[in-house]
Amino acid sequence: YEAKQKRSGWSIFSERNTQLGHQRLRLRADLEGALSEWQIKFHYQPKVELNSGNVIGVEALARWYHPTDGILAPVHFIDLIEQSGRVQEFGRYVIQSAIQQLALWKTQGLSTPIAINLSPYNLLDPDLLDFTLALLKQHSIGTKQLEIELIESSTSINIDYIASRLGDFKRAGIALAIDDFGTGMSSLSYISNLNVNDIKIDRSFISDIEKDLKKQAIVSAAITLATSFDCNAIAEGIETKAQSDILIKMGCLYGQGYYFAKPMRADEVEALLLSNTSLPLA
Ligand code: C2E
Ligand code: MG
Ligand code: MG
Ligand code: MG
Repeated sequence: YEAKQKRSGWSIFSERNTQLGHQRLRLRADLEGALSEWQIKFHYQPKVELNSGNVIGVEALARWYHPTDGILAPVHFIDLIEQSGRVQEFGRYVIQSAIQQLALWKTQGLSTPIAINLSPYNLLDPDLLDFTLALLKQHSIGTKQLEIELIESSTSINIDYIASRLGDFKRAGIALAIDDFGTGMSSLSYISNLNVNDIKIDRSFISDIEKDLKKQAIVSAAITLATSFDCNAIAEGIETKAQSDILIKMGCLYGQGYYFAKPMRADEVEALLLSNTSLPLA
């Protein structure tokens, strides 16, 4: 009986895997349309000052508005793009979309910075900075309004090369953040060599932080590290008031998470920014 249970358990699992495999093959084939027809759009999640709930910026998070599968999160397609030949094109697309949004918001009197996520693959593009600066100039937008969050994909790309690319962005006035801090291998060298502006403490250390002493110790160390490198610690994935409160007590000034606001469509975040209200909404 037990063996039979196991067998059927396995067959359900492998059937599900096959389905997922089919979807991924299909999505890979659909990538062409995604990029050429602007099917990938961005949702925006506010970053707040924990004490006041004031919005200090927003992070652009990619969503694929797929013609048949609905709105897909990055987990379904970012790695497909990175394995395709179009990863540098995608990096430009992300930057262009953010700058277009900044230009639109500018006409409404908004000057909230947008942070974009770039992986080392995006940064292999040698002309990415020139592309970025030309677009910013075209729309009369200052470099201070664009921020780069470096996400660490598992990669064998030469880290010194990526660091020097990032250094060029930093010297041009574009702020740098290390994303998912605590989960990668190379963060420490980036932070000391590049004078990064922000360290984003990974969500895995924030969940249950109010109960978990080990996580408190890790987050506390990250905050100390940020302070000694003269950069901001930003806590990711804050889901409760208790988590926000303990982070404030520990000296973390900034954060992001469902407790304050989920990622929102451009028109929704625009209404929020125009209303100038603090988060979370009552
Ligand atoms: P990330 O940059 O660390 O973004 C934070 C992720 O955590 C987002 O997931 C966000 O929706 C989610 N999140 C925010 N607050 C909470 C919370 O309180 N609880 C929980 N459970 N989750 C929360 P999302 O949008 O699915 O993005 C996942 C990752 O995909 C991002 O992680 C980033 O690494 C990558 N990504 C997103 N957009 C882009 C892009 O344009 N380019 C590249 N290369 N990567 C991107
Ligand atoms: Mg990010
Ligand atoms: Mg992150
Ligand atoms: Mg994270």
